[in-house]
Amino acid sequence: MECMKCGNEMTKANFFTFGGMSLETKTNSIFETPERSSVEVYVCNKCGYVELKATDFKKF
Ligand SMILES: [Zn+2]
Repeated sequence: MECMKCGNEMTKANFFTFGGMSLETKTNSIFETPERSSVEVYVCNKCGYVELKATDFKKF
């Protein structure tokens, strides 16, 4: 992935909160099961720009 700010090749990194970080689709009721996706992080080692990407973005 290329950095949006400076065009440098970005490095994939691990991004941790306790138990991992994930995204969830918004549901209209508590009876619906939300779809979940984990998050990938890319860091530019030239300018420090960080980009987040959902791994299962098509669920949204
Ligand atoms: Zn950059």
